[in-house]
Amino acid sequence: MSKKSDIALIGLAVMGQNLILNMNDHGFIVTAYNRTTEKVDEFLKNAAKGTNVVGAYSLQEMVNTLKKPRRVMMLVKAGKAVDSFIEQLIPLLEKGDIIIDGGNSEYNDTTRRTKELEEKEILFVGSGVSGGEDGARYGPSLMPGGNPKAWPFIKDIFQSISAKINGEPCCDWVGENGAGHFVKMVHNGIEYGDMQLICEAYHLMKSCLQLSNEEMSKVFQEWNKGELDSFLIEITKDILKFKDTDGKYLVEKIRDAAGQKGTGKWTAISALDYGVPVTLIGESVFSRCLSALLCERQKASKQLNGPCDPVHIVDKKKLLEELRQALYASKIISYAQGFMLMREAAKIYGWNLNYGGIALMWRGGCIIRSVFLGDIKIAFEKNPQLTNLLLDPFFKNAIHNCQSAWRNVVATSALAGIPMPAFSTALAFYDGYRSARLPANLLQAQRDYFGAHTYELLDEPGKFIHTNWTGHG
Ligand code: NAP
Repeated sequence: MSKKSDIALIGLAVMGQNLILNMNDHGFIVTAYNRTTEKVDEFLKNAAKGTNVVGAYSLQEMVNTLKKPRRVMMLVKAGKAVDSFIEQLIPLLEKGDIIIDGGNSEYNDTTRRTKELEEKEILFVGSGVSGGEDGARYGPSLMPGGNPKAWPFIKDIFQSISAKINGEPCCDWVGENGAGHFVKMVHNGIEYGDMQLICEAYHLMKSCLQLSNEEMSKVFQEWNKGELDSFLIEITKDILKFKDTDGKYLVEKIRDAAGQKGTGKWTAISALDYGVPVTLIGESVFSRCLSALLCERQKASKQLNGPCDPVHIVDKKKLLEELRQALYASKIISYAQGFMLMREAAKIYGWNLNYGGIALMWRGGCIIRSVFLGDIKIAFEKNPQLTNLLLDPFFKNAIHNCQSAWRNVVATSALAGIPMPAFSTALAFYDGYRSARLPANLLQAQRDYFGAHTYELLDEPGKFIHTNWTGHG
């Protein structure tokens, strides 16, 4: 009799195929299944040729190949497909078996699924998987959450196949119910922010400093050697200098209308739901929306004026260094906001999130991987109770050092008429967060004036007062 498989994987699109090959490389026997079963044959004949991967053509056949407790992982389209497979799997599984959803599922769905399956004594895990095709193949960042009883049974496989930084796996148990998918959602939101910041820096370099693509590529190459060292800066350097077959820069031929699949929007919606000012991710989502209004923008560009006088930059080198510092400071704000959101959700849902561990999970394997995340890990390790990343001595100092450059970049972009919403909102957040007094006193008075919403006096908190502001009875 042939050996039983360690795990089954449903979904033979790009992520599933690569994750199976990664598991195979690490010595695990994987059974592969796909709704359209022709893809199983195709996979076995091509990418999985010569491996120990086993094919299955029905869910029953797939389950029969597995060791107990059975481990079944799905990498299928988020939403209905996940529920449909769960429904079909329930009658085929036993108490203590494990179902893992590695897709980009919404965290509330994961909470619901964990609870529904717990009633049937099946252990459900919703895991963030990041790093795209290459990550899945050679080491993704994995963020598992759900039923904690499942973790001892999947830890070995998950930590073996994940990316490693200094030998440490970029994968650990995140928390109960939807915690893993929540953290993955925030990761994706931060990815939106990082990408938007880089695009705004490119816009300023191109439109205000009039740098060529080769020059911009070199700037990003330099930036990648220091505090900004990251995957996204690295790929930007490559993209900017990439030439099409006609010798022209490909990036300049691409339609400037951004797409989105929804995880950035979900992050912004959660931020609004929980009242956390995650402004940079919000601006990044809206910037994609604004870019998508391409026809409207083209019409408006012929009618709406910008600044009367062009901004003349005398010292390009100086502004480029200021831009680097402004990008770094804005990035610190974005991550501080992302961790604020996770802290609030953890409070609401009772998750015991390990913030240093999350920074390590993102340090390698995923799209936002960067050296910077190593500093965040250290900050939370030094002080797990840190209320805000901005109050960590390392980051406080970093922001202080970048501050005047950051202000100059935001001011220059405003004077030049170049939109830099992510840089600007980051600076506005910083100034708001460090203000002991904001103009919300006037706002409260306005609310009370027109709606009798009441207000509290500074020296009498907790006592709500209404005033007849017009003096009319
Ligand atoms: P995908 O295009 O999102 O999904 C394709 C897979 O889902 C196929 O196996 C397909 O089966 C199956 N599927 C679709 N609708 C189905 C339905 N109604 N019932 C049953 N099966 C259905 O694949 P992917 O890009 O590899 O991503 C897999 C998951 O990982 C997704 O949730 C995605 O959001 C997430 N993810 C993707 C990336 C990435 O870089 N691509 C990165 C991280 C996470 P058929 O072949 O039969 O159509």
